[in-house]
Amino acid sequence: MKKFLVVLFILSSVRVFAIDFDHYFENRTLRIDCTHAGNATSDEYFIDELKAEPYWGGTHVNLIDTMAYGVYMVKVFDVATNTLIYSHGYCTLFDEWQATAEAKKTSRSFSETVVMPFPKKNVRVEFYTRNHKGTYDKKFDYVVDVKSYFISPERKLKFPVYDAYISGDPKNCVDIVILPEGYTAQEMDKFKADCQKFVQALFSFDPYTKNKTKFNIRCVLAPSPESGVDIPADNVWKRTMLNSNFYTFDSERYLMTCDNKSIRDMAANAPYDQIYILANSSKYGGGGIYNDYCLSVNSNTAAAKIFIHEFGHGFAGLADEYYDSSTSYNDFYQKDVEPWEPNLTTLVDFGRKWKGMLPAGTPIPTKPDESNPLRLGVFEGGGYVAKGVYRPAYDCLMDSFNGNEFCDVCKKSIQKMIDFYCR
Ligand SMILES: [Zn+2]
Repeated sequence: MKKFLVVLFILSSVRVFAIDFDHYFENRTLRIDCTHAGNATSDEYFIDELKAEPYWGGTHVNLIDTMAYGVYMVKVFDVATNTLIYSHGYCTLFDEWQATAEAKKTSRSFSETVVMPFPKKNVRVEFYTRNHKGTYDKKFDYVVDVKSYFISPERKLKFPVYDAYISGDPKNCVDIVILPEGYTAQEMDKFKADCQKFVQALFSFDPYTKNKTKFNIRCVLAPSPESGVDIPADNVWKRTMLNSNFYTFDSERYLMTCDNKSIRDMAANAPYDQIYILANSSKYGGGGIYNDYCLSVNSNTAAAKIFIHEFGHGFAGLADEYYDSSTSYNDFYQKDVEPWEPNLTTLVDFGRKWKGMLPAGTPIPTKPDESNPLRLGVFEGGGYVAKGVYRPAYDCLMDSFNGNEFCDVCKKSIQKMIDFYCR
């Protein structure tokens, strides 16, 4: 009986009640822009502005984020009943910046956005940050008066949309919006062709290939005044729509942008779950931030694999499995805390990672074997450090571009995310 009660308790504690979308939400987006500011050890939120956007690309079923990935979590409560009606985990450039040496010396502010389906009644929005123990601390809350006439419906960057690949209703699909960066008006056809290359690349890697009918890919035709992107160290500066630059955090290949508001204004032209920025450059670079945005170049020889790698970060919350590359981060992972990313472990709580997928008798750690790069194991080195963090395969697409496949752990994580969006 005791055993039965324990089982019953476990089942009831993990059960997530379905939220009736139509009862609580309209089929469009409430966007909250904040300033997130601080330094290596502290952070604070400030409300910037609220916007009403015309489309909601997300699921109508899985409104509570059961993955709990990401450094941040936003939770939305119906004020009248105190019911949790929406939650969403994500990361930002700010949290990466907090791990740089610069953050130990100074404070900086970053623009940050959370989106949710537009609530029918007033909601309390709570902002959480993951602490050093891996659990969430509430940092800020804000009550939204949904009838307020200050919620702006203004569309600052209204542009036509090109449908590169359409499968079905946004509520049942993963909706990717591709934004052009540094393509002039004369280069819009090139942008469309590059978007088709993206479509081809995405669907040539598993598990995307077999889930082709669950994706929509739309492209916003927004030309920039000048062609190319900024390369600060070479004194190259271009007037572009999204103000991206190489040398983010002084890392040459880290091509990103802090112009969050322009990204969101441009993305609002289409329903979206994921934002992908295609930059018009042949220089190697890019980046991807979980549930925020991904950015990569169009015409590097490795472009297809860069798309796929960065989208792994942005869409599925996958971590970098490499550790031999120079990055600007110090102690990105605490060795005594299990990372939230599904494809790394510190062995602190390996049971909730890929332990159950390991073939019987796999030694932990597993000896590297270059001849069988995708064999599942527990290989030391990953997440930018050589010791104390482990990855699931010797070499997967989240590590290097030598192979053509994700490891089984990454594949499974991507599939889980596709299913979450498409139920
Ligand atoms: Zn992997």
